[in-house]
Amino acid sequence: MPPALDLTLLRHRGDPVTSLLVTDIGELVTNDPQRSAAGQPADVARLGIVRDAAVIVEAGQIAWIGSADHAPQADSQRSVAGRTVIPGFVDSHTHLVFAGDRAGEFAARMAGTAYDGGGIATTVAATRSASDEELRALLSARMAELRRQGTTTVEIKSGYGLSIEHELRLLRLAREVSPHVTFLGAHVVPAEYAADRAAYVDLVTGPMLAAVVEQGAAAYLDVFCEPRSAHAFTEEEAWAILLAGRAAGLGLRVHGNQLGPGPGVRLACELGAASVDHCTYLDDADVEALAESGTVATLLPGVEFSTRHPYPDARRLIDAGARVALATDCNPGTCFTSSMPFVIALAVRELRMTPAEALYAATAGSAATLGARGRIAVGEPAELTVLDAPSHVHLAYRPGVSIASVLLD
Ligand SMILES: [Zn+2]
Repeated sequence: MPPALDLTLLRHRGDPVTSLLVTDIGELVTNDPQRSAAGQPADVARLGIVRDAAVIVEAGQIAWIGSADHAPQADSQRSVAGRTVIPGFVDSHTHLVFAGDRAGEFAARMAGTAYDGGGIATTVAATRSASDEELRALLSARMAELRRQGTTTVEIKSGYGLSIEHELRLLRLAREVSPHVTFLGAHVVPAEYAADRAAYVDLVTGPMLAAVVEQGAAAYLDVFCEPRSAHAFTEEEAWAILLAGRAAGLGLRVHGNQLGPGPGVRLACELGAASVDHCTYLDDADVEALAESGTVATLLPGVEFSTRHPYPDARRLIDAGARVALATDCNPGTCFTSSMPFVIALAVRELRMTPAEALYAATAGSAATLGARGRIAVGEPAELTVLDAPSHVHLAYRPGVSIASVLLD
C-alpha cells in the first residue's frame, strides 16, 4: 500500500489547492543525506540521491517524495522521462542591476591589460544615467536568462550607484525581483571622493546605511576589501564599514582575497559574516579561520576564467573542513556569465572539486549563505531544476551545453 498522503497542513484559507505529481525522475538529487543508499562515497552520499523517483508539489511546496512506483494520486501529473531533477541553483553572488557594456575592457584584458578594479567607474556612470525603466528591463532580461539555466534563487547587490539616491534606487529595483538583496555602497570609492576617501566611508557608514536600514532596502551589507586595489577598501576602512552594518542589524558579506593575500577573509570570520567571496589567495591562517568559523567560502571561478587569474584552491578548503559555496559573480566587468552549470564545470575541471561537491556547493552550499536550505524535502519550497541528462555528473561532463532549466514556471 502506498503511504497515506496528509496534505492538510498545506491547505490554507480555503484556497483551491491543486497538486502536481512530477514522476519518472531517473535521478533525484535531494541534498538530504538521509535518503542516500548505503555504501556511497561521502560526497555523493551528501546529495541524497533517490533513483526512479517522484515528487508531489502542492501550493508551491514539496508535499511528498518517494519511489515513482509508490507515488500517491495527484490532481495532475508530469513525466520527466528519466531525466535528473536537482534543487534549483542558488546564485548567491551577483551584480545584476547595471547599464552599459564593458566588452572592450574584456578584450583589452585578454590582450594583456591588467585588472585593478578601476573599470567599475565606467559601469557606475552608465548606471547612474539610465532610467528606472531601462534598468528594470535589463534586470528582467537577466533574471530570465538565469532561470533558463536552472537558477531559482539569486542574491543581487547594489554597488553601481555609490550615492544615497542611486544606491537606494538599485536596491529598490533588485527587491522587485528577489528578496535576497545586498547593500554594496562600499564597492569602490567613487571618483568624486578620490581625494577624500574618509568622507566616503563616513557617508557609507552614516547617512547611506541609515537610509538603507530605514527603508528596509537590504538584508545584507557587503564590502570590497582589497588593499591591492586603489579603488577598493583597506582593512581599516572595511572593518569600520562591516561593524556599522552589523550594528545596524544587517547580515554581512565580504569580497575578499581576490587580487592577492589580504585581510578580507580574517575580517569576515571575526565578524561572523555569512560569506566571504573570491578566496583566491589564502594563507594557512585564512584556511584555519574558515574551517573554524560559520563563514562560508564562496568561490567564483568564472572571475578567474574571465580575468585569466589563478583559480582558488578548493581542495585545500574542503580538506580542511571549510564550508564552500559556488556562485557566478555575474557582473559586467570581471565575469559576465549567468550560468551556474558553467561555474560547476569550471569547479570540477579547474578547482578539482568532484561533480557531487560542485553541485552541493552550487545549491545547499550557496543557499546556506542566504539562510535557506537548498534541498528537496517535504515542506520546503518547490524550487526544482531539471537536467536533460541521466545524472548530475553531466553538468561538468557536458560543458557549454544547455542541459539545465527551471522545472516549474
Ligand atoms: Zn562581486
